[in-house]
Amino acid sequence: MADVRPKILVVDDIPSNIHVLSRILKEDYDIYFATDGERALDLVQTRLPDLVLLDIMMPGMDGYEVCTRIKSDPATHDIPVIFISAKSEVEDETRGLEVGAIDFITKPISPPIVKARVRNHLLLKRQADLLRSLSFLDGLTGIANRRRFDEAMAREWRRCGRAQQPMSLILLDVDHFKAYNDHYGHQAGDECLRAVAELLAERVQRPCDLVARYGGEEFVCLLPETSSAGAGQVAERLRAAVADCGIPHAQSPVAPHITISLGVATMTPEVGSVPDRLAQTADQMLYQAKRAGRNRVQGVSVPAL
Ligand code: GH3
Ligand code: MG
Ligand code: MG
Repeated sequence: MADVRPKILVVDDIPSNIHVLSRILKEDYDIYFATDGERALDLVQTRLPDLVLLDIMMPGMDGYEVCTRIKSDPATHDIPVIFISAKSEVEDETRGLEVGAIDFITKPISPPIVKARVRNHLLLKRQADLLRSLSFLDGLTGIANRRRFDEAMAREWRRCGRAQQPMSLILLDVDHFKAYNDHYGHQAGDECLRAVAELLAERVQRPCDLVARYGGEEFVCLLPETSSAGAGQVAERLRAAVADCGIPHAQSPVAPHITISLGVATMTPEVGSVPDRLAQTADQMLYQAKRAGRNRVQGVSVPAL
């Protein structure tokens, strides 16, 4: 995205220092500034800059502390920090790198060096962001992958546990998909999985819901703060969407088109517990839906132990 200007936060208690840096960088970047640590952390959280240029010696919270806090918050952990400081002893620089800074520039600064280092670090940041986003996507379908699902599951499970809200999980599997592959070819099979993924993703609406590829021709749908009745409705909507889409499946004994079977489980997490039982129960429900004839939803609400 070449047309989005990177955002840089400049932090220094002396305004003239901010002015110097801003003059060097404002042509290419959007500059935000703060003259104390508290304000800097505030801007880091609200603006999510692509890079922070951070002074060390400031009254109140010093630069080391600001950097430590940026690095300890998962939401801001990946924002690169460069210290810009008059402190130039080996210990100062070492400590800066130890608290998570990516680079250290000593004052007085040289404008071309600052420019070049900022450009290099922003390039690395952009590449790292891209890799991170790709590592959470399924390569075939473009929706979330298993890793992303596991992460969201752990997070939402804790959140629902704290709020004592029910959490629902839908596990679904394409019916007689081996026969589809055998008849239409593996490439057609891949296209079918892409189409199913798109249909599912379109029909799951709330921002905290997540549809992911669970593996092979299995998909999973995470529905935080959703009761068993609500999840049953979503599951039925997904089943109908795939059936109504009418992708031909001449070899299916269930219907002349692609169908899916769905298992739904709902539980209110106990604080400190793990979500394994929810996933196992959804899997058992899916198995029952298969046994009962496929192209159907089987669900259950699991009481707390
Ligand atoms: P059931 O209704 O019981 O689920 O029968 P099924 O044939 O769908 O189940 P089975 O587990 O026997 O076969 C799953 C098939 O899905 C076999 C495998 O080749 C195919 N498959 C899994 N992943 C992919 C994929 O990424 N691309 C394609 N084209 N096929 C896949
Ligand atoms: Mg299957
Ligand atoms: Mg399967």
